[in-house]
Amino acid sequence: MKTYNVVLLPGDGIGPEIMDVATKTIDYVAQKYNFGIEYEQKLIGGSAIDKYNDPLPEETLKACKSSDAVLLSAIGSPKYDALPREKRPESGLLNLRSGLGLFANIRPVKVWPALISESSLKQEIVQNVDLVVVRELTGGIYFGQPKGRLQSENGERAFNTMTYSTMEIDRIARVAFELATDRKKKLCSIDKANVLDVSQLWRERVIELSYNFPKVELNHLYVDNAAMQLIRQPDQFDVILTGNLFGDIISDEAAMLTGSIGMLPSASLRLEGPGLFEPVHGSAPDIANKDIANPMAMVLSAAMMLRVGLKENNAADDLENAIDKVLKDGYRTSDLMTNGKKVLGCREMGEQILMSLAAA
Ligand code: ATP
Ligand code: MG
Repeated sequence: MKTYNVVLLPGDGIGPEIMDVATKTIDYVAQKYNFGIEYEQKLIGGSAIDKYNDPLPEETLKACKSSDAVLLSAIGSPKYDALPREKRPESGLLNLRSGLGLFANIRPVKVWPALISESSLKQEIVQNVDLVVVRELTGGIYFGQPKGRLQSENGERAFNTMTYSTMEIDRIARVAFELATDRKKKLCSIDKANVLDVSQLWRERVIELSYNFPKVELNHLYVDNAAMQLIRQPDQFDVILTGNLFGDIISDEAAMLTGSIGMLPSASLRLEGPGLFEPVHGSAPDIANKDIANPMAMVLSAAMMLRVGLKENNAADDLENAIDKVLKDGYRTSDLMTNGKKVLGCREMGEQILMSLAAA
């Protein structure tokens, strides 16, 4: 029997509650499809600060590096707001991503059929939304040098540098072209090439690479126009390729098209080696330990891990179908529109997902 080594990072806030639901669903499909999962649970973020005074203990990073995949819930809590930036929970996650070299952040944004009529946006706008944002994650303005703050005669000045090399652009663009090849063969690259030199290089490289993917239809949008088009007519997009800063903004905007942050998974990948799979939402400290969190983004992150990380496509399909079924059966958590629906807590929703798995 094939056995995978998966590191679990339940993190903070609602993290442990939703992780518990996810592992139960993974165990169910693992048994059904006859593969084994060996979990190794490690600390990151606030829980790691409490125990080791370090948001990313060495042993956590080491375990992640030698795993087949890493499944993370969420990190962070207002409790740590007073700490300096490099000591806060969020720096643990940033260092984990860079420590694993995860340069490609993949966020699928799909509207679940049962939720279309419950969207706060117009039904005709959201009904066909099914896109993926591919965001460069380890370069760009978040990491570029020089950066900092300087005292000058005229007061203080602060600066960051947006920089990309051809190597960094080529490798993320390749991920996006390959994904587009597997989907609707449409790729939109988002930049600001009318203003930024770094975007001009970005665009040149993407065009250069497109000759290797003649079946993929490529277009380019300036980021300001793209932000508008996403709201105006989101179904024009299939795969979106963009850099770190623009991707941060565009992917949150795209996420809202689906109505709830509690439904969206993500993956952060490199070419070889373990990927990191996590929900798009944060640790939701305001609802932690109340058993009301929506565990579906976490279960869908587990599905992405099974599909992309472990290549267990049937198991991944089952998890996604089970989510589709609970929604169609009228079950909701309280972050979703609940008018006339059956509202469940986190644990009850987990049980309902398991029942849908068993009914498949
Ligand atoms: P981060 O900085 O970690 O991204 P954030 O400040 O953006 O965190 P979240 O933790 O994502 O915020 O929470 C934003 C809001 O969405 C909160 O009101 C939270 O309760 C709600 N929320 C987030 N995730 C869920 C979930 N899985 N189920 C229900 N509500 C959620
Ligand atoms: Mg957030």
